[in-house]
Amino acid sequence: MSFDLDLSGGPCAVIDRAALRHNLSVVRSTAPQSKVMAVVKANAYGHGIVQVAQALIAADAFGVARLKEAVALREAGIGQPIVLLEGVFTHQELDVAARLNLETVVHSFPQLAALESWRGARRLSVWCKVDTGMNRLGFRMDEFPLAWSRLNACVSVLPQPRVMTHLAVADERDNTHTPQQVARFATLTNGLNVERSMGNSAGLVAWPDARVEWVRPGLMLYGMSPFAEQVAADLNLQPAMTLVTQLIALRELRVGEEVGYGATWRAPRVAGGGPGRRRHHSFLNH
Ligand SMILES: *Cc1c(COP(=O)(O)O)cnc(C)c1O
Repeated sequence: MSFDLDLSGGPCAVIDRAALRHNLSVVRSTAPQSKVMAVVKANAYGHGIVQVAQALIAADAFGVARLKEAVALREAGIGQPIVLLEGVFTHQELDVAARLNLETVVHSFPQLAALESWRGARRLSVWCKVDTGMNRLGFRMDEFPLAWSRLNACVSVLPQPRVMTHLAVADERDNTHTPQQVARFATLTNGLNVERSMGNSAGLVAWPDARVEWVRPGLMLYGMSPFAEQVAADLNLQPAMTLVTQLIALRELRVGEEVGYGATWRAPRVAGGGPGRRRHHSFLNH
């Protein structure tokens, strides 16, 4: 026998579409020359991929990690360019990408070989990812010329593939690693006359040289500061998610009384005012 369990009234994450749009406008004014690939991977960082994409329909493209996220967007009627940031690995996935008119990242030789041996119904728009120092995904600098010429010769790839890289420590404003990555990317791409993409949220805010033809913000669209030393409001960002629930109890404690499992928190003072209140406030701002 089945029964319906009424779970309404529990905690609820409320998503503010106006905040999402406001944050996109902050990206636009920070990088006015760049096109914006709004990163909506991981269910739009937990905010709901379809609703977020609908709210951010003014973005120039959407970036997702997985094929099934792109499928969900297309099924919801999103017609924007969608970029598969992880790329694909099999002919079957390439067929789906072609059918849904997706763009795909090629970051490794196995992916390149899969493209070269594939004969699809239509050619794909491709981003070639180069590793300028994050050492996670992408062709190494010395592999890039070969990968680039093979991509350009590949019959399944549309002309003028684009080039991207990813910054490892863009959130550290005094770290020399980022200018090194930016310089390597410039050296590699300056003669190419193609569209490029480099900066995530931290990159596009903190490093003007990372604002090339495309920027790829994630965090800041959702109203999060990518920097440890600045909260969202410092960057004029608005939190897109608010948790709403019902308080089920309020208690007053005497100074020195402990709370909960392990008794790890001890009341330092009587309620109201003081430093405890401020700490609570900054938590909300993050
Ligand atoms: C997640 C991701 C981004 C967005 O990064 P944020 O720090 O959230 O702005 C950009 N590019 C790639 C390749 C990513 O994987």
